[in-house]
Amino acid sequence: MPELPEVENVRTSLRRKIVGQKITHVSVHRPDIIRGPSKPRNMLSGCQIKEVGRYGKQLAIYTENNGSYEPCICIHLGMTGSLRYEPTSGQSGTQLNHIHVTWRFSDGGTFFFRDPRRFGGIWTFPTPRQLRDTRWQHLGPDAVTITAMQLTKSLRNRSRNIKSALLDQGIVAGLGNIYVDEILFQCKIHPLTPVKMLCCKQISSLVRRIHRLLHNAIKAGGSTFKDYQNANGNHGRFQSQFQVYGRSNQRCKQCETTLQTVTVAGRTSVFCQCCQVLYK
Ligand SMILES: [Zn+2]
Repeated sequence: MPELPEVENVRTSLRRKIVGQKITHVSVHRPDIIRGPSKPRNMLSGCQIKEVGRYGKQLAIYTENNGSYEPCICIHLGMTGSLRYEPTSGQSGTQLNHIHVTWRFSDGGTFFFRDPRRFGGIWTFPTPRQLRDTRWQHLGPDAVTITAMQLTKSLRNRSRNIKSALLDQGIVAGLGNIYVDEILFQCKIHPLTPVKMLCCKQISSLVRRIHRLLHNAIKAGGSTFKDYQNANGNHGRFQSQFQVYGRSNQRCKQCETTLQTVTVAGRTSVFCQCCQVLYK
């Protein structure tokens, strides 16, 4: 599943191509991937793109009319969703199957939403404010900007473990299984450590490492573990720096102990039982 660094790379690669352009035609091939009750449901046909935004793992495409904000859509890539921009109306570099929506632009370019497993989707809103006040209302602070004070407040008096807390988008938005495993390894914290056992100093250090890891992963174009590509069709390179994710039963790069797995919140966590301390 694309996490914050991958979604941020989709955002930046897409905004260079589509901001300022007018959408001349929209084809919806699978109406059921357009979710939510909000109007309008025209998928921005006839609108001019003002900006491409991101919150956590979700993207937003904002439009404008004479400088003021108009309808917007929110896109969640789910497990297998991708957005792809082609400079001409053809689909030369894009796989044709599982394309659910196609937008055509005034310069002849085309933009596709493709999602084979359909866990992703598109939500439409009449204004950006409605998107913020409804769909994004229950998300925690974005992982790129969260402060130690915000995370401390969210984790206070919780008995759950740190792995499931960091996966919870209501606590911090944007992290998933890959980056949480990597962050906990860097912080030398066992994924099953109850959050109430962590002191303020450890939470501050956790936030610093979240910021640094995400910064480095964004700079490397994100991680391609299975099939992630940005809007230009480029793969990420950060997977070569993984310390634990996807390396179960291999040797720890720090201490050579065999890496273990444990299931937390339905997800497989990889950790080093020697480097990572279970505080209890
Ligand atoms: Zn180790």
